[in-house]
Amino acid sequence: MTDLKLRYLKGCPVGCDSGLETTQYVLPEGALLRCSACGQLISQCTSTDYWQSMQEFDDPKGTLPVTGSEQRSFRRGKGFLKQISKLLNQSPGQVRLLDVGCSSGAFLNTAVNLGFLAEGIEPAPKAAAAALASGLNVRQGFLQEAGYADGKFDAVTLIEVIEHLSQPLELLEEIHRILRPGGVLLIGTGNAASWSMAAMGSRWEYLSISKHGGHISFFSPESIASLAQRSGFSVVAVRTRRVSFYEKGDCGMPLYHVAKLAGDLLNAVAGLLNKGHDMAVYLRKI
Ligand SMILES: [Zn+2]
Repeated sequence: MTDLKLRYLKGCPVGCDSGLETTQYVLPEGALLRCSACGQLISQCTSTDYWQSMQEFDDPKGTLPVTGSEQRSFRRGKGFLKQISKLLNQSPGQVRLLDVGCSSGAFLNTAVNLGFLAEGIEPAPKAAAAALASGLNVRQGFLQEAGYADGKFDAVTLIEVIEHLSQPLELLEEIHRILRPGGVLLIGTGNAASWSMAAMGSRWEYLSISKHGGHISFFSPESIASLAQRSGFSVVAVRTRRVSFYEKGDCGMPLYHVAKLAGDLLNAVAGLLNKGHDMAVYLRKI
């Protein structure tokens, strides 16, 4: 086990005061730990490893979809935005939306194209500059330092951000403050209670800090619900999709293709049971 003094995460990021158990999921930086209260899985990486792996995020390309996946990324973003508009019962043109950790602005761009009154905030300087240069309304910095007015937004989105944070509770409390009463927060992250995790365990690429810089904290619908409850939100919808049994390169191509087909067939059932590995949770400010 990594020495507690060197470990980046000292306790459960959800804010539980309970013990951490060692799991059978062994990664290069040590076995994942599990919070005995909420089930959150956390990395044992050191602070040095964490900050080094986060460097790669400050890239002008940021989260822009790789060539060939633009359409898929646009459809996914569109799905999130449709659901937000429906939950608020407001048409896009009436929704004041803030994308926190907007990177180079791929999702923000989709929101603007669909008519949302959307802006973003991003701490990484090069990614934020790239978003600004493409004409998006983006501020560079951390949300806690931006000082947005109370109740300024109808919706906040936090997509592929929360798995990087040691203190997500503090961020959610700030988001709660800047949302209007009844406002909606979308959290997009991986699902550690997914069938993909059950099948692949430590082989699941999502868990790898070297392939996904800064991924250190792995949520499930249950641990997100704990986090929501602690920060003044209620969970209004959980959506999950996608099932994988192998990552590319983990097995021969014939087996990979058969397993991929099986995963695609199971996708609909996984969605019904919240067992997909790609998770979106919609919360409402109480
Ligand atoms: Zn916990």
